[in-house]
Amino acid sequence: MPTRNHFRKTYLVTGGAGFIGSHLCDRLIAAGHGVLCVDNYLTGSRDNIAHLLGNPYFEAMRHDVTFPLFVEVDGIFNLACPASPVHYQRDPVQTTKTSVHGAINMLGLAKRLNVPILQASTSEVYGDPEIHPQTEDYWGHVNPIGTRSCYDEGKRCAETLFFDYHREHNLEIKVARIFNTYGPRMHPNDGRVVSNFIMQALRGEDITLYGDGEQTRSFCYVDDLVEGLIRLMDTGPAVTGPVNLGNPGEFTMRELAHQAIMATGAGSRMIHAPLPADDPRQRQPDITIAKDALAWTPQVALIDGLKPTVAYFRDLVERGLS
Ligand code: NAD
Ligand code: UDP
Ligand code: UDP
Repeated sequence: MPTRNHFRKTYLVTGGAGFIGSHLCDRLIAAGHGVLCVDNYLTGSRDNIAHLLGNPYFEAMRHDVTFPLFVEVDGIFNLACPASPVHYQRDPVQTTKTSVHGAINMLGLAKRLNVPILQASTSEVYGDPEIHPQTEDYWGHVNPIGTRSCYDEGKRCAETLFFDYHREHNLEIKVARIFNTYGPRMHPNDGRVVSNFIMQALRGEDITLYGDGEQTRSFCYVDDLVEGLIRLMDTGPAVTGPVNLGNPGEFTMRELAHQAIMATGAGSRMIHAPLPADDPRQRQPDITIAKDALAWTPQVALIDGLKPTVAYFRDLVERGLS
């Protein structure tokens, strides 16, 4: 695997105050790099990066990536975009703008600086997939006019822009297709399944299985995911992706609910609620490319990753912060 030199670099992390972005900032700082965190705090929080603010190599800037940005950095991680269906459907036009205008601006910045740029893409580009598990050469099955489309199509268009800048300007790009990721600093009320189930269990409420609860997802612990992102950025120019990053362990939502109940020690019951529109039936990454190109495999099993996640949410509840 060709690698870059590891002397100190300054990375721009857009969406750096979000769930994944803040963990990425932590890891880059711990590796001795500088970080410029750019975020408009739409779904992220200053609390997620508060512990970094005193570090001389960390800088936070409030900025919306749909507007141009002129800064000097050595590489860009483009994570800015709401990720939970509840959040990204609240202002769908802004979601598409963030993905598309945000990608154009960050690609323009990367082009001017001639630095590598990584895009946080998503398993949602596969839509409700007709092949299983999903490989990177699958073109997807996405409803272009549904309520998830602002996110799915925005991310698909961003991938198109990345590859066009690569072909037109020889820009060094890295496209990561991230599958469902969980861990501490997820927003407790973002409506995603892991945060919902744990928060419901901790509050002694019923756990809401949407539909029959037999749909599947594959859950990657955030530390594993961040390791994959950093390894991808550290590859040479020949590695563009797209690369699936996710944990191949596949669970039904019913199984996840059982695990959340066990991890919290709660006595919650499961109840059924309506299935949201266009909810993918199944999702599991084929990570052959990530294994070969990045020597990466997730290390943290769901049952182990749920423990620190539960501890994080329990602390929020006990401190009255959620
Ligand atoms: P998140 O909502 O916690 O983080 C997104 C961050 O982007 C937030 O801090 C938000 O304030 C910021 N942001 C949103 N719009 C912005 C804008 N216009 N300008 C500047 N900042 C903006 O979500 P996350 O789970 O940390 O996701 C991070 C990235 O990873 C997203 O691009 C998401 O699409 C992608 N992703 C996440 C998952 C997952 O399971 N968490 C799965 C696939 C892809
Ligand atoms: N851009 C930016 N920062 C930079 C360079 C460019 O935000 O340092 C923006 C720029 O405003 C433009 C976009 O990136 O809207 C695309 O730039 P590019 O040079 O590719 O295209 P052009 O300016 O020719 O439209
Ligand atoms: N889900 C659920 N109960 C909830 C929240 C979500 O059963 O309280 C289901 C949802 O219908 C989907 C899966 O969990 O099938 C994952 O949903 P999430 O919003 O976390 O992410 P998605 O992968 O759909 O973007």
